[in-house]
Amino acid sequence: MALSGTKTESSGLREFINSPKGKGLTTVAAIIMVLGAGYMVWRQLGPTETELLARDRNFIDAKTMKPFVHELKIGDVIPVDAPSGGKTGYPAELCYWTKDGKQKDQPTAVLLKACLGETGPTFCPDCGRLVVAHNPRPGTASKPPPLESEYKSRGTGNSSRDERR
Ligand SMILES: [Zn+2]
Repeated sequence: MALSGTKTESSGLREFINSPKGKGLTTVAAIIMVLGAGYMVWRQLGPTETELLARDRNFIDAKTMKPFVHELKIGDVIPVDAPSGGKTGYPAELCYWTKDGKQKDQPTAVLLKACLGETGPTFCPDCGRLVVAHNPRPGTASKPPPLESEYKSRGTGNSSRDERR
């Protein structure tokens, strides 16, 4: 080529990028950038994502009221397949309380009424205490949630908002 003698550095670079080897390198660089960005996003979302996944594995069979473990996959529709054979598997809330207001290590899986389209508060079948959506695992200083009787006797005064988050 007659132009080869007057080739500038930038056109040489362009030629290199357009060459198969250069294209490969550019692709690799792009992949590394995407992976790097993805890693940074993952680092920020990572712990909560993992936490969510961990708690999302607790399901309860609405037919038998028995808890089971289900790995949520993309494409899963709730209710999911339950051990009883039907599509009656709902995400379970975990209750860490006993009837006398103590915490326990082995939580009770509770099916929220809201999951079944019912209204009103849900009470744990084991301890009878209030269970809310995203029921938090209590800390050592946490106060036990109200029993059904306590909840109903609280009246409609300033405590009407019982689901503070
Ligand atoms: Zn309970």
